[in-house]
Amino acid sequence: MKVSQIPYLRYTIEEGRADFEKFSVAVKNAISVDDVISARDEFLSNVIDFMTSASLSSCRFTLNTKDEFYQGEKEYYDNVTPLFQQLLVQYAAIMLSSKFRKELEGKLNPRIFKSYEIAQKAFSDKIIEELQLENSITTEYSKFMSEIVFNFEGKDMPLSVLRGYFENSDREIRKGAAQALGAGLHKNAEKLDDIYDRLVKVRDKMAKKMGYKNFVELGYYRMSRMDYDAQMVAKFRKNVETDLVPVVKKLKENIAKKFGWDKFMFYDNEVYSVGETPKPILSVDEIFKAALEMYDDMNPFVGNFMHEMIDAEAFDVLARDGKWGGGYCTTFPKYKQPFILANFNGGCGDIDVITHEFGHALAAKNVFEYGDIELEVGGMETAECHSMGMEFFCEKYMDKFFGDKANKYRYKHLMDALSFIPYGVIVDEYQQIIYENPQMTPAQRKQTYLELEKKYRPYLSYEGIEYLEEGTRWQYQMHIYESPFYYIDYCLAQTVAIGFSIAARENYDSALEKYLAFSRKGGTEAFGDLVKNAGLASPFEEGALKKIAAMVVDIVAERES
Ligand code: ZN
Repeated sequence: MKVSQIPYLRYTIEEGRADFEKFSVAVKNAISVDDVISARDEFLSNVIDFMTSASLSSCRFTLNTKDEFYQGEKEYYDNVTPLFQQLLVQYAAIMLSSKFRKELEGKLNPRIFKSYEIAQKAFSDKIIEELQLENSITTEYSKFMSEIVFNFEGKDMPLSVLRGYFENSDREIRKGAAQALGAGLHKNAEKLDDIYDRLVKVRDKMAKKMGYKNFVELGYYRMSRMDYDAQMVAKFRKNVETDLVPVVKKLKENIAKKFGWDKFMFYDNEVYSVGETPKPILSVDEIFKAALEMYDDMNPFVGNFMHEMIDAEAFDVLARDGKWGGGYCTTFPKYKQPFILANFNGGCGDIDVITHEFGHALAAKNVFEYGDIELEVGGMETAECHSMGMEFFCEKYMDKFFGDKANKYRYKHLMDALSFIPYGVIVDEYQQIIYENPQMTPAQRKQTYLELEKKYRPYLSYEGIEYLEEGTRWQYQMHIYESPFYYIDYCLAQTVAIGFSIAARENYDSALEKYLAFSRKGGTEAFGDLVKNAGLASPFEEGALKKIAAMVVDIVAERES
């Protein structure tokens, strides 16, 4: 079935409550562990109905944020999702207190029970009102960002198009784009500050209502993190500061020297080689044809899945007015169908969509085939290993997309990956500080951001760029508004993905096999175990970053020449 033909049917909270009631009675009357398991199966099929309706409505809203019907449906789910969440927490509580718990733990993956325990800590009936409010504010931000226009070179354009100019080889053009970005945000400064302030306050209120000191611990539980806590993340950030920042600084300084810049500016951050930034040499249709050939050659299972995705028209990649400006991969579980949204702008990021987002889609497919819907593809850190890892396995095929610029692309891709980590850590530490100090004023928040930039990206300057120089880069980082504490997962995953890339240089087939096994396991193993079983170093391990950085420096030197 084509994605556009999937019927949309609202699964209501009333249906949810009735289905939960059935589950509850069935467990009460259970006379064996198998009775409980079949009640769980039945209830999970209802959950799948809910997830499918919620993600269909949200997806169709992002395809056209002006569509009034799906605006309404999305609003409905913004409102009732916390109520569904309440049912899921009650469901988890019933499972945890079942008299067959011991037998259940023998039959189901113990991680499922761990996830039930975390679900209890992440939610309380007391905060439903605040959750609904939070949902409506993040929707407000998302809508606002998709409608905001930036005036550049006499034209109004959405953020996704403007960002394409940051790869332009002409430094003056990049500078102009940065000014346009700053000016566009500046015009809306009050709104951007206000939305964030409301989000911080409502999140803090929820945490305190639940008895937490602040939002940090609750934020971690909400991410369903089973395998690491804020202390471990703090250690990872320290590793980045000591082992990675000096290396990235040196690499960036070399780039500035190569170009003859006396200062490395914010708008120089996506440029690595003299001359044109590598761009795909193919049209959109040709990109998909080349991607099919790539995945067919890589592995039969993977190739087959790419055929399925294209047959289902499960990609929507053209930027257009009213379409939400980001990129994502979602799923419609009832139809076992992943879906990818992106906004192509002709830059090399377009290729990341068919590699990165496709890596997510493949992992989702694996859950449908082999996994457990409750454990899904794993935590976000694991999910991003699927996508970022796939980017590196696709590097081998980049001649198809970039012709004689393929090596230039590989060089850029690796440099992007490595220099992303310090930025990601800024985003994480920023949120840590913000939620520890919810009373901060907008001006203090901006000051905090600037200090973190100095700590983790000491080589980069915002000087003279309207508004951005005040410390506002985070205001168009959607995760900071929409998904608190999500960002560190990218950093952990990037470390693992670079590890896969180094392994692939030694033996591509064996590394790919390990990657596919990693993807197939989804969330059935702890993050640390998944990484160890793939033969890679854990990002939390002392010295892991040092080793990776040293190897990257060697590879970079080779690609540069
Ligand atoms: Zn991703």
